[in-house]
Amino acid sequence: MMDFFDIDPRLKALAAQAEELCRPAFDRIGRIEEYNGQKVLSAFFKAGVSEAHLKGTTGYGYDDRGRDGLDQVYASIFGAEDALVRHTFVSGTHALATALFGVLRPGDTMVSVTGAPYDTLEETIGIRGGENTGSLMNFGVKYRQIELLPDGSPDYEAIAAAAPQAKMIYLQRSRGYSLRPSLSVEVIGRVARTAKEANPSVIVMVDNCYGELVEEKEPTQVGADLIAGSLIKNPGGGIAPTGGYIAGRKDLVELCGYRLTCPGMGKEVGCTLDVLRSMYQGIFLAPTVVASAVKTSIFAAAFYHLLGFEVTPTHEESRTDIIQSVLTGSPETLCAFCRGIQKGAPVDSFVTPMPWDMPGYDSQVIMAAGAFTMGASIELSADAPLREPYAVWLQGGLTYPTGKAGVILSAQEMLSEGLLKL
Ligand SMILES: *Cc1c(COP(=O)(O)O)cnc(C)c1O
Repeated sequence: MMDFFDIDPRLKALAAQAEELCRPAFDRIGRIEEYNGQKVLSAFFKAGVSEAHLKGTTGYGYDDRGRDGLDQVYASIFGAEDALVRHTFVSGTHALATALFGVLRPGDTMVSVTGAPYDTLEETIGIRGGENTGSLMNFGVKYRQIELLPDGSPDYEAIAAAAPQAKMIYLQRSRGYSLRPSLSVEVIGRVARTAKEANPSVIVMVDNCYGELVEEKEPTQVGADLIAGSLIKNPGGGIAPTGGYIAGRKDLVELCGYRLTCPGMGKEVGCTLDVLRSMYQGIFLAPTVVASAVKTSIFAAAFYHLLGFEVTPTHEESRTDIIQSVLTGSPETLCAFCRGIQKGAPVDSFVTPMPWDMPGYDSQVIMAAGAFTMGASIELSADAPLREPYAVWLQGGLTYPTGKAGVILSAQEMLSEGLLKL
């Protein structure tokens, strides 16, 4: 094992030990992979996917069977009435923003109940950014935020109290780049029930990024009305070259279509060029690719735990997203971790990641990524701001064997730099 790389024998032994610790979790992941793989296959059957679906259109894209079939496949996987899956979503943020602008109107109140939303959405909402950017707040949408309780669980009482005045209750499933726990689909269901008991007409929307296919159920199967995410994360399966999706209640997805194109046309137009085959193939492979990413994260949790680091979540905790954080303790160790992950990349393995002053961040940021698709974080990657407690967020791994190699190389880099005591 690992004869292809220069790995210290002690690290090899620890890796074998870590993998043993992971067995029960891997068995669990294997069962979810099988369930979701067959769920996706049955969605292809229901939509009657044919060779013709894989070929795209040009121009207006009227009667694009492939596009409409892909919407059906996604809707069926997510247990939703309809979906909007498009390569013209430039990112997850764009899909989320389209959903928010699609359903919120001047005077409506949006209540985020998982604290601050993902960084990039702050300017969409208008919490941050210029005076006249066309943010939701510029258009007269009101925004409120309910923090998670100190133990990371939702504040159900505050949610019930806020729901009657809210048009939308908004949740983020994944921890994103924070150290709070991610929200399981079960917890999301409880939030949806709490909000709807207090206000039956409230719209429950979930930022589903990094969460797709990690559990057997999705938020739309437990009461969420609308979800959105990125195709260069989980549901693109590492194959879709770009894009995003929205899924949920039919009337709401229709409004999102109006926002993406224009009122009246909505999701009936939009050509698909040559991207359909990779989008179908991506969602088909996604259950297995997501399982590989989750296994890579669980392995990293066990391995770094054995190396004496604090990790969250642990290898034993159940998962609802693909993110793993490791508290490295010092800027030097953090940078070595990222250099090692970069050395494990199939593309640009010879590149050295360096911290830089990324716009919008108050500390320097370091990122490791060597991916087939630029910025794809379903591929093995690591990101971190250089600040206490020097936590690094690791995600992705198209295949478990290569993800595992990347994780071991990250520790080898620390060891080679004299930053690790064994
Ligand atoms: C990735 C992500 C987004 C969207 O980010 P993009 O880079 O625009 O795709 C939003 N929310 C969460 C939690 C994410 O992880």
